[in-house]
Amino acid sequence: MDILYLLLVVTFVFTLIVQFKVSSTFNRFSHIGSGRGKTGAEVARRILDAHGLFDVGIERVHGHLTDHYDPRGRVLRLSESVYSSSSPSAVGVAAHEVGHAIQHAEKYAPIQFRTKLVPVVNFASSFSWIAIVIGMFITYSSTILGNYLVSFGILLFAATTLFHLVTLPCELNASRRALTELELSGWYSSEELGMSKKVLRAAAMTYVAALATSIIQLLRLIRIFGNRRD
Ligand SMILES: [Zn+2]
Repeated sequence: MDILYLLLVVTFVFTLIVQFKVSSTFNRFSHIGSGRGKTGAEVARRILDAHGLFDVGIERVHGHLTDHYDPRGRVLRLSESVYSSSSPSAVGVAAHEVGHAIQHAEKYAPIQFRTKLVPVVNFASSFSWIAIVIGMFITYSSTILGNYLVSFGILLFAATTLFHLVTLPCELNASRRALTELELSGWYSSEELGMSKKVLRAAAMTYVAALATSIIQLLRLIRIFGNRRD
């Protein structure tokens, strides 16, 4: 039995469960008003202003759970179900995205490293497999060149694994900041804070699942192609 293949199946199932859990937890606490009826956008504005980030704008964005902070445009984009809702789910997600804005403003080391990795990963995600496949074909005529190309492809894939690894502390830190800010506002009961926490914890698991999948895929690549030295 191939242990890495088995682990890949396990992480695939884990990813599906995590995705279901994120949606169900978000929905579960998305129909309750919380705090003083402040919406996700209002809460985000308040936290941004408290950190002197007056110039960071807040926009509405289409889609479900499409919320993000754009560091280049210095804009916080909140989805419909977060922007104008005062639910524990909405304010939790809004405050989490503000957490990313604060990370950028404070030059939090992992987020800076992550931003630097983005162009590398954009290239790597399209070219790692291409390099491996072309390398495999070339091996028949030129073993050395083929092996180099395969190794280069695996190295590119490793860059994406590194990206997932660096993403994890960024996400956990943003959620920690979010919960601290919500608590400091004094608007929420411990019960409401607990609901926001559950939503953010479920969301964090998606990044754990992505990292686990990437590590196992990398190990499989190394095992399948890494030992083909002639
Ligand atoms: Zn995040």
